[in-house]
Amino acid sequence: MVLEKKTLDQLKISPGERIRLSEHDPAWLPEHVRKLPAEARKSLGKQLLKSSVEGLASAQDLLYADDRWSLLVVFQAMDAAGKDSTIKHVMSGVNPQGCSVTSFKQPSSEDLNHNFLWRTWKAVPARGQIGIFNRSHYEEVLVVKVHPELLAAQRIPDVKVNKAFWQSRYDDINEFESHLARNGTKILKFFLNVSKDEQRRRFLDRIDDPKKHWKFSQADLAERQLWDKYQAAYQEAIAATSSDAAPWYVIPADRKWAMRAVVADIISTTIQGMDLHYPVLTAADEDHLKAAKTSLSAEGS
Ligand code: ATP
Ligand code: MG
Repeated sequence: MVLEKKTLDQLKISPGERIRLSEHDPAWLPEHVRKLPAEARKSLGKQLLKSSVEGLASAQDLLYADDRWSLLVVFQAMDAAGKDSTIKHVMSGVNPQGCSVTSFKQPSSEDLNHNFLWRTWKAVPARGQIGIFNRSHYEEVLVVKVHPELLAAQRIPDVKVNKAFWQSRYDDINEFESHLARNGTKILKFFLNVSKDEQRRRFLDRIDDPKKHWKFSQADLAERQLWDKYQAAYQEAIAATSSDAAPWYVIPADRKWAMRAVVADIISTTIQGMDLHYPVLTAADEDHLKAAKTSLSAEGS
């Protein structure tokens, strides 16, 4: 770990904690970083990212060899908070064979023919693997809560969309995640907390830069108008679903370099803290290795 545990713990939401996103500063920096001049801060962030990415690469190797555990990392955020680029940077050193990224977009008609966790089940990481969710099952209590009319397409019989309905979705999600955790999946959930003002700047940048035009859609602006409703939905979902088995971290996202460094550090620290071992050979396996060595050595002589 490069950042202190107590620093990272400041970003972690305890089970049952009532959170107010307005009290989480999107431009937050750890105390010892805040004191540094701007250039020194950035280079420290880059250094931290580099060492966490290296730590993550070797930790992943062990996760893969151990082949009992898996790691699920969920990314949720408002548009332009930097989900894609964080995933790209943080996972840059990992072996692609041991990692998959699933992007959850609007559900397909096949998805809508099933219960809301069906498509999530299909994407959970296998033992030894890291699974990244770019958006996730949480959209079902975020965008769907902000736009309850989307529920019609899910064709749930006798549904009443009220407080109890959303509570039942949180319960389903908590039980789903507990089940995964009990069966060997470590879960980390990151809410990349960008400010409304920074989102505005990033949207303008996308509009001004022809290479970024493709990143901007009219729908993003419409969702921005619903900012407060999204914040309320995030706040409630995070409070209802942060657990020891699957904690939420609220990651300050206005400074991309800091966000990436912190996320990489939390992921690599988590894997390093898992009970992972290279498989221990049985006496028979060792005999096979010795025999193979003798046979291969004889070929060369
Ligand atoms: P980008 O950074 O490329 O814009 P994105 O994750 O925003 O990435 P989009 O294709 O722009 O991808 O948007 C996906 C949309 O799908 C989001 O608006 C999201 O809210 C929506 N979505 C995801 N899951 C669901 C769901 N279960 N029900 C309804 N809408 C969903
Ligand atoms: Mg989008």
